[in-house]
Amino acid sequence: MDYAAFHRRSLDERDAFWAEQARLIDWHVAPKRTLDYARPPFARWFVDGRTNLCHNAVDRWLNRDWGAHADRPALIYISTETGEERTYSFRALHAEVNRCAAMLLELGVGRGDRVLIYMPMIAEAAFAMLACARIGAIHSVVFGGFASHSLANRIEDAAPKVIVSADAGSRVGKVVPYKGLLDEAIRLSAHKPAKVLLVDRKLAAMPMTAGRDVRWDALAVRHEGAQVPCAWLESSEPSYILYTSGTTGRPKGVQRDTGGYAVALAASMKHIYCGNAGETYFSTSDIGWVVGHSYIIYGPLLAGMATIMYEGTPVRPDAGILWQIVEKHRVSVMFSAPTAIRVLKKQDPGYLTKYDLSSLKALWLAGEPLDEPTARWIADSLKRPIIDNYWQTETGWPILTYPMGIEDKPRKFGSPGHPMYGYDVRLLHEATGEEVAVGEKGVVAIVPPLPPGCMSTVWGDDRRFVETYFRSVPGREVYSTFDWGIRDADGCHFILGRTDDVINVAGHRLGTREIEESISSHPAIAEVAVVGVADQLKGQVPVGFAVVKDAAAVATLDGRMKLEGEVMKTVDGQLGAIARPHRVHFVSALPKTRSGKVLRRSIQAICEGRDPGDLTTIEDPAALTQLREAMAPA
Ligand code: ATP
Ligand code: MG
Repeated sequence: MDYAAFHRRSLDERDAFWAEQARLIDWHVAPKRTLDYARPPFARWFVDGRTNLCHNAVDRWLNRDWGAHADRPALIYISTETGEERTYSFRALHAEVNRCAAMLLELGVGRGDRVLIYMPMIAEAAFAMLACARIGAIHSVVFGGFASHSLANRIEDAAPKVIVSADAGSRVGKVVPYKGLLDEAIRLSAHKPAKVLLVDRKLAAMPMTAGRDVRWDALAVRHEGAQVPCAWLESSEPSYILYTSGTTGRPKGVQRDTGGYAVALAASMKHIYCGNAGETYFSTSDIGWVVGHSYIIYGPLLAGMATIMYEGTPVRPDAGILWQIVEKHRVSVMFSAPTAIRVLKKQDPGYLTKYDLSSLKALWLAGEPLDEPTARWIADSLKRPIIDNYWQTETGWPILTYPMGIEDKPRKFGSPGHPMYGYDVRLLHEATGEEVAVGEKGVVAIVPPLPPGCMSTVWGDDRRFVETYFRSVPGREVYSTFDWGIRDADGCHFILGRTDDVINVAGHRLGTREIEESISSHPAIAEVAVVGVADQLKGQVPVGFAVVKDAAAVATLDGRMKLEGEVMKTVDGQLGAIARPHRVHFVSALPKTRSGKVLRRSIQAICEGRDPGDLTTIEDPAALTQLREAMAPA
């Protein structure tokens, strides 16, 4: 089919288009209206329809093929951390989810109550998510291993009745105890959960608080064989809250609806990922991130596929582990991140040809820019289509990609492709709000209403939803992604970085990414972040924070001054003196989020003596202390 026509119809005949897509899922009561957009920018999809995510992900598949589908794999749990591997058929998953739903009901969880899930990648986490969906409770998964402070903020914001957790996670063979972090987080938070449900993996100590803490195994035996009916939610009742990564400030609680999300995911499985019932989907993400929600748990199961839940890294026990899993489980759709591929690039390429990958249709990558050399490398090695897809926690499914299920459009390395159906994507001039021409850079914006599956609001803060996302482009109420993009003559889009990564030096606009690339080209530099710092004379000046490959080079004041001078010369030579950093400070680590993204805005705030804001998702707080010391007058 002609994708351009498909996309055009999704906007021009929006209601008819989405009413058709809505048939991809089961409704207990069919929607009366496709869209209610009486209160922009708040969109309500599939008004008065009643459905349930758990029913569509699990129950619905029990009767498929005269019951044969019930015994096909639904959840394949693989841990290279503990050496466990277990497969749950749709029938077994149904039993586990029902039992967990009964457990939550006994703990007092009802429709609309929040359940915070702070768990490692174990099957019980999936049971808990689906059990919440079953009874109409709102889950909020917090990435396992976040420190107490980050967790405390999310507990306070989501105000859960129950928290589901475990004794510990495991990362690269090392036990990461959770229980102590959780207890501390609950102590820090003003909101206290009534109950804490705990899975004991027997990896670490799990001290119990009497009256509050409940053991999963002890509660589970009492609910063996339980049957809990699905709660038929109105389409816009919330299914879950998920906090954004916090790369650019205080994490936002993205609230997702039920019906719109189910339809959006089911449609994406068909048109974008080409996954069919009976096949196997493998996403290497974590349930703590949006990819985990959409494409480990709900998307594949909504399509009747088996989904692999993998606790482990791409290089342990060896760099062939991902491909070994693909071969063993005949994976047809695989989803990962550019970071994982960059890790593999440093390993023996022999692993890529060692296994039979004939079941694999394509590899989808998302989360950060997929640079051309990495894309080429993995494409040449796998001999499979490598498909970049660009989206956000906020949108829940791709904004830009190549819709393989509709038309196999030619792919360009470095480009995540075309706007997906339902998304009216525009590139806008940041000052005038006008659309930019082909080949010109603009802010990637979406003309509302946002399609089904995207966030309904910021949890508990409608104002913040409007102010944050719909007020940044002058004169227009459009959704801003806060990313720069450019489009070529073929309609392929390229993402050029985040809008806050641009600085203004004496009227010249400079991308910090460009300056960073120039500094990195100096052989002594391993990693660098550049931010714009307010300056009375010039407006802003670039300031760099660099990590050197060999710490000895900057151990003395002389060494630091010499290298700083050399780095500035490098930038002068490559970009011109206008881009020359005002200062380059040497540190041993950059402040990053747990998902590996540099916290530029916090660095900038510290440089300007402002409050760096919420730093709860920071990976290594020592990196900030160093930064402050570097900035302090000598
Ligand atoms: P916060 O919004 O809290 O600062 P975050 O933006 O890092 O956190 P996510 O929603 O996980 O949180 O990440 C979405 C962002 O990641 C996008 O806005 C974009 O900057 C980047 N991104 C995601 N996929 C791609 C891609 N395929 N190409 C380029 N950039 C991407
Ligand atoms: Mg973001």
